[in-house]
Amino acid sequence: MGMERLVPTLEDLEVVLNMLARSATGQKLTVYTSLITGPRRPEDLDGPEELHVIVLDNGRSAQLGDPMFQEVLNCIRCAACLNVCPVYKQVGGHTYGSVYSGPIGAVLTPLLKQDMKEAGQLAYASSLCGACYEACPVKIPLHDMLVHLRHRKVKMGYAPPLEKLAFKVYATTFGSVKLYRMAAKSAYFGLKPFARGGAIRRLPGPGAGWTQSRLFPMKPKQSFRDRWEALQRELQAAPQTKAAKAAGQQVEKGRIKHDG
Ligand code: SF4
Repeated sequence: MGMERLVPTLEDLEVVLNMLARSATGQKLTVYTSLITGPRRPEDLDGPEELHVIVLDNGRSAQLGDPMFQEVLNCIRCAACLNVCPVYKQVGGHTYGSVYSGPIGAVLTPLLKQDMKEAGQLAYASSLCGACYEACPVKIPLHDMLVHLRHRKVKMGYAPPLEKLAFKVYATTFGSVKLYRMAAKSAYFGLKPFARGGAIRRLPGPGAGWTQSRLFPMKPKQSFRDRWEALQRELQAAPQTKAAKAAGQQVEKGRIKHDG
């Protein structure tokens, strides 16, 4: 057994057993629990001559004291996070290449193998929706850990050059209002040839996988910001009836709040 399976007393075991079955399958008690009390005593009729318990560390103690990953050792292996994970539901357990699958496997495997190059890829097998955290009875922040593992992989220089470039472009564009607006406008014109009935049925290149089984919503021609500015201009140009004045004041109030 892994070293993190140890609990100090039988009272603590009761809590763990209750949590385990209820979180995993909703049963009141797990269907197999063996209580092994040790080798046969002289007065016992039968039982083992010797009892060996092998406690494996296998990279686990390296997580002790790690501010980001120590909590992963709290896992009771109930598999509740697997049951709710949208990625696991699609790909199944064998794809994780380890005995630990699902969100907990995606965190634990790279840590235990101490391999960010290959096993670190598992950190990307998540939509980061946080469903695993919601379901986890011991509240391990798996989605935060997955982001941290991705960060670690990049810091160790294992990110593909194309990905690095893509994120550089993304950061520059989203870091400048002017560039962001330009990119949003050109996205409309870039996507327009693929749109039909307000949706895109087949995206080109790497986006093709997305539209294999679902529609991609077409970007509206006018952004919210453009519509907001147009509305203000219209209101300023409109004759100042009592109602228009009140509406203008409302918009002005909203703008101040929005800018603030
Ligand atoms: S991470 Fe949480 S939900 Fe997933 S197996 Fe461990 S204890 Fe269960």
